[in-house]
Amino acid sequence: MKNNKLSNRNTESKPHLSPTQVNMFLRCPAQWYYRYVRGLKRPPSGAATLGSAVDSGITHNYRQKIESHQDLALDEVLDAFSTDFEARKSETLWGPEEKPSQVKDDGARVLSLYQGDVAPTVQPTAVQKRVELDMPNFAYRFVVVPDVVERGSIIRDTKVVKRSPAKVENAPALAPAHQDQMVAYALAYRATQERAEEGCVVDYLVRTKNTKLVQIPFRVTSSHLAYYKNLIGLVARQIEALIFTPNRQNYLCTRRHCGYWEECEKDFGGVVRS
Ligand code: SF4
Repeated sequence: MKNNKLSNRNTESKPHLSPTQVNMFLRCPAQWYYRYVRGLKRPPSGAATLGSAVDSGITHNYRQKIESHQDLALDEVLDAFSTDFEARKSETLWGPEEKPSQVKDDGARVLSLYQGDVAPTVQPTAVQKRVELDMPNFAYRFVVVPDVVERGSIIRDTKVVKRSPAKVENAPALAPAHQDQMVAYALAYRATQERAEEGCVVDYLVRTKNTKLVQIPFRVTSSHLAYYKNLIGLVARQIEALIFTPNRQNYLCTRRHCGYWEECEKDFGGVVRS
């Protein structure tokens, strides 16, 4: 892709893309179309609600820690998590075997682990700071909100997962979608700070019976950045060309995981599996 340099110019009139949107588009362009062109909102899954509530607890602590340099008491962090979880609970599409109270207990366990093992080692300098990047030649801004930037220019993100991350060459590795997200964060950091970050870390909180923390460091290279810039340019071009192919080969294309399956069957034919 030519001329793919991104800058953080403010371009109010443009619509925006985000790393989450790019991930959704790559998973299924038709799903992106239903959500962002037709504007059809569907309730989040239990896993998404849990992730957002855990994030609220972590963010509640880190926002004040920028100034105080002190972690809040665990009870206060768990309160922020609980308030957020309860507010989202009724708006969530719970799976048939999911019990919200058990999911909430999982969240409290992984958040307690995070507060004990990770939070004391992190001195945040920025928390969920929105960065808007111009995409020259495209009618879109790219909006990125990195979770946490910590002292020493480390970009940090947290994922609550059901299974430990898969290993590549005997070491746990970032899931490809998470890797792309960290590259997007690095892109935003470099555009605003005019220098490279020192590194990235994803803290995976594994909500198995024996709650576990898996920390995966990641270094963003110029090759990662070139790939990601091409990716977002190509997604933007497909959107401009109104190409929204349904991806039924995507493993999350099921009636349970996609809230648009009825519209999708009506518009494109075929049968979405249960
Ligand atoms: S049902 Fe499958 S193909 Fe259709 S929008 Fe959803 S994920 Fe895409």
